[in-house]
Amino acid sequence: MKKLAFETKLVHADRKINKPQHGAVHESTNNSVLFEFEDVQDLVDVFQGKKMGHVYSRSSSSSAVSLQNVLNELENGVGAIVFATGMAAISATFLSLLQSGDHIIVSQYLFGNTRSFMANIERFGINVSYVDVTDVNEVIAVCKPNTKMVFCETIANPVTQVTDLQGIGDFCDSKNIIFALDNTMTPSVLLDAKAVNASLLLTSLTKYIGGHGNVLGGVLIDTGLFDWSRFSNIDDIYRVADLSQWGLTQVKKRGLRDMGATLAPQSAHMVSIGLETLTMRLRKTCVNAQALAKYLQTHKGVNAVYYPGLQDHPQHERAQALFKRGFGGILSLELSEGIDSHAFLNALSLVISATHLGDTRTLALPAASTIFYENGAAERAKMGIADSLIRISLGIEEIDDILADFDQAFKQVLSV
Ligand SMILES: *Cc1c(COP(=O)(O)O)cnc(C)c1O
Repeated sequence: MKKLAFETKLVHADRKINKPQHGAVHESTNNSVLFEFEDVQDLVDVFQGKKMGHVYSRSSSSSAVSLQNVLNELENGVGAIVFATGMAAISATFLSLLQSGDHIIVSQYLFGNTRSFMANIERFGINVSYVDVTDVNEVIAVCKPNTKMVFCETIANPVTQVTDLQGIGDFCDSKNIIFALDNTMTPSVLLDAKAVNASLLLTSLTKYIGGHGNVLGGVLIDTGLFDWSRFSNIDDIYRVADLSQWGLTQVKKRGLRDMGATLAPQSAHMVSIGLETLTMRLRKTCVNAQALAKYLQTHKGVNAVYYPGLQDHPQHERAQALFKRGFGGILSLELSEGIDSHAFLNALSLVISATHLGDTRTLALPAASTIFYENGAAERAKMGIADSLIRISLGIEEIDDILADFDQAFKQVLSV
């Protein structure tokens, strides 16, 4: 499999890695919760991890394993675990690997629900520092002897700050700290996460990977770069033979089996179908985002545009070095003074007002009053989110139709 190009793997990896029965080209959707064994010794061996197999579908099913194998292959990892949602992948990973008394460093620009999840783990005695991850020195400044993990996203949502991924990855590597990276905004088509020393990848499958707004899912992938023998939180029973699997084994038992946010077989199948066209969709999305950003940049109805593909973006050069095939599908804008953002959004007719991103359709929403409402004004200010900020998630429509929709909406709001 290693010799095939990424695009080729997207459509052939399932069949090549998993060898579905009866010559099926896809792994079939198997809804059985329980699994039968001819010899009870085999049941015992699978329970004890001595043999591969499924015993109960909360822990594993052929549909989930098939998707895990493909996602892992695309990132060149050492293993993956899929979950019911992106938040399930994040929460299960944190709750499995961290414990009371640990310190972690996270981005001050986190996705809203991830940010509120951090407040939950703080209640259980994990100490969290929030820093500006566009500068590794901010991370270095708050690092302590009990710092176990640094967690951030590749491109922040909605103001598109680009994380100092190389700096943070190299720092974590030198200190044996887990570098957990949410790469939902830039799945492997756009970013080679191993090149920046990411230890763990957390990705919402609901966004670009599934891609069609019809299925939820999340995944944890271990890149194989972190040395688990230097991580004191691994329980003795999960220090299994293969060192590369220690972290995943603990997350699989504590985070999936014990917490139970399992990805359903039907959902795994739907994510797999979406995944086949990931590159094509994401390329078009990036091209559309770049074109819309350029259009907005010079428009008299716009005060500011945030997109890493624009030359005046503060981290444009870094983005160029990191993201070889496009700058992602998210941009945001502030309208000129006097234009009501709700009136503008209502005036758009093709673009949908909805909370979601990474869809085939172009979506827009007012960020401060919706997904970042709970954060409060002070935190929003720290994240660079103005009250009038509109977030756009580009889809795969013909760009002329998107631009025409913006044009007619601007005409409506500027003429009143
Ligand atoms: C959406 C999102 C998540 C959460 O994923 P769900 O599948 O909706 O639970 C996590 N991180 C980022 C960056 C996201 O955009």
